Amino acid sequence: MGNSTGKQVPFKEGMMKLPQSPSDKGYMVGSKCRKCGEQFFIRREICENCQGRDLEDIALSNKGKLYAFSVMYYPAPPPYKPPDPFVPFGLGWIELPGGMVLYSLLTENDPKKLKIGMEMELTFEKFGEDKDGNDVMICKFKPSGAN
Ligand SMILES: [Zn+2]
Repeated sequence: MGNSTGKQVPFKEGMMKLPQSPSDKGYMVGSKCRKCGEQFFIRREICENCQGRDLEDIALSNKGKLYAFSVMYYPAPPPYKPPDPFVPFGLGWIELPGGMVLYSLLTENDPKKLKIGMEMELTFEKFGEDKDGNDVMICKFKPSGAN
């Protein structure tokens, strides 16, 4: 730390598109099968539904509803290296418009502030720095309207 370039890079290449300007909110990248129309997150090469190999990248909605959640009071398995000291964190299933449900870290870890069905939106957070001093960004969902 200390030599930060201020440049942001995604935690995993191809998984997300970081905001490029203050008005750009960024998005997570999924796949859509051109043959059967099935959509996936995380992005994949082969359709689980029809085994087709003709998939295209799609921008997933950066808004959804909280479908289910839990708060983890134990460190997560790799690759999410726990902060030291460890703080509990929220994990949620977010239902996107269209019905796709994806699993994501949440910014909120207080179960009293989370409610099934509440509106959620995508946000990006610095996770750490890579060897070149770039900020490595991960995505989380936050309650809409929260900072
Ligand atoms: Zn398919």
